Amino acid sequence: MSSEKINVTIWNENIHEQSKPKILELYPGAIHGFLADKLGSPDLNIRTATLEQPEHGLTEEVLQNTDVLVWWGHIAHNQVADEVVDRIQQHIWDGMGLLCLHSAHMSKIFRRLNGTSGKLHWREVGEKERLWVIDPSHPVTAGLPEHFELPYEEMYGEPFMIAEDAKVLMMSWFEGGEVFRSCYTIQRGRGRMVYFRPGHETFPSFHDANVLKTIANAVRWLKPTCRTPYPKTHIAESFETIAPKDFEHIKAGVIRD
Ligand code: ZN
Repeated sequence: MSSEKINVTIWNENIHEQSKPKILELYPGAIHGFLADKLGSPDLNIRTATLEQPEHGLTEEVLQNTDVLVWWGHIAHNQVADEVVDRIQQHIWDGMGLLCLHSAHMSKIFRRLNGTSGKLHWREVGEKERLWVIDPSHPVTAGLPEHFELPYEEMYGEPFMIAEDAKVLMMSWFEGGEVFRSCYTIQRGRGRMVYFRPGHETFPSFHDANVLKTIANAVRWLKPTCRTPYPKTHIAESFETIAPKDFEHIKAGVIRD
């Protein structure tokens, strides 16, 4: 938060891109590089990080200088080190924003923040998705039409295992008949998380103007309003620090003056 610009770190596991050249044709520079290019704006400082980097590119120093972390992962969620997830979680509690895209619903950090499995129904046949904005007053949906369509997407269907306090901003309908809570937000500590569904690696969804607008809106809304250590949970003194005679009184229910 050293500058007035929003410091954005776009994280990608960057695995599909290395085995399927067609994905690099669809998303030159891989998903992280493509999004960095498309989101480029004078009010944003954008950097990228990937799984294979030391500490996945998410060192303490990087996270201290990240206002908003964008996450794309799919097949390597379990390769993300728990100590890095701990670090991300603490920064969210202290105010950092997190935007989880598409298959990030099974990432460790998503499941921790939601306190749920993140599971859902899915089908990959390239069917039509229609996204309905159900909260047009929210900054994340600003400037979007009442609904918009993506001609080819992977289907995600309900029930979607997410936090009970999710504030839903968009609902999706799929050609096969399913519906899905495709954009929502939760607050954890001082930080906010937004989940946004589109973005399967073999479909061109990140080229879509409304998808990019949603991501751009979310990045700006997720900017911390306050970035300071969240009060730590009080740790009660252990029994060892209470003199035995005091403990005896407590156990006996005797009120002393
Ligand atoms: Zn997918």
